[in-house]
Amino acid sequence: PTRSLRYKRVLLKLSGEALMGDGKYGIHPPTLTRIASEVKEVVEAGVELAVVIGGGNIFRGVAGATEGMDRASADYMGMLATCINSMAMQDALEKQGVFTRVLSAIKMEQIAEPYIRRRAVRHLEKGRVVIFAAGTGNPYFTTDTAASLRAMEINAEVILKATKVDGVYNADPKKDSTAKRYRSLTYMDVLRQNLNVMDSTAISLCMDNKLPIVVFDLTARGNIGRAVLGNGDIGTVVG
Ligand code: UDP
Repeated sequence: PTRSLRYKRVLLKLSGEALMGDGKYGIHPPTLTRIASEVKEVVEAGVELAVVIGGGNIFRGVAGATEGMDRASADYMGMLATCINSMAMQDALEKQGVFTRVLSAIKMEQIAEPYIRRRAVRHLEKGRVVIFAAGTGNPYFTTDTAASLRAMEINAEVILKATKVDGVYNADPKKDSTAKRYRSLTYMDVLRQNLNVMDSTAISLCMDNKLPIVVFDLTARGNIGRAVLGNGDIGTVVG
């Protein structure tokens, strides 16, 4: 831990889709391995890192509900999907020698520890990567909200919100070549302009507790390190 770190304790939010690679659903093992190797780098640099993974690559509650399922049941299925992703990430990290613990908001003792805040903090202090599974444990929430909540609970200094574009733009950079990236935005900008950062519940929670969010591009190799270690101008900071 000699390099200068911008942040000492961070929460990394990955969407389920981040694990798909170029696929349309599920998990793409080489992508998982690549993300795990980047996580390993920052952990070895001395950063305490917690991860929240979504489930959208497997199941989304809203999608189930539109097809006639009870929304709460569908949401619980979505939460289970995040557990599958969390276990996959744990496996990928441990293959690379990174110690991890999965802490689940829904009890499933054979595969994950129950979520206990003080235990999560202790794991982080010991240098283990903590993976928070099952979102908040409540239907009608998202894993973005879970990320905000857990980040607050563990006193993370920042949420690193991984996306497929390098931050927030004033237009879609894939369609409009004049689109400009915002270097920084306020929470209110995001809420008022309905910018696609995280859902409004998650943004509000961050706003009320002054927790900054860095939106960055996970598809470019090395960006987790750049976001955490603070070299280079990447992404958009919401604060
Ligand atoms: N979910 C939930 N409560 C939570 C977190 C997640 O009900 O606290 C459900 C919800 O149905 C959601 C699904 O789990 O659609 C998967 O999570 P999310 O859509 O946030 O995943 P992502 O978009 O990040 O892949």
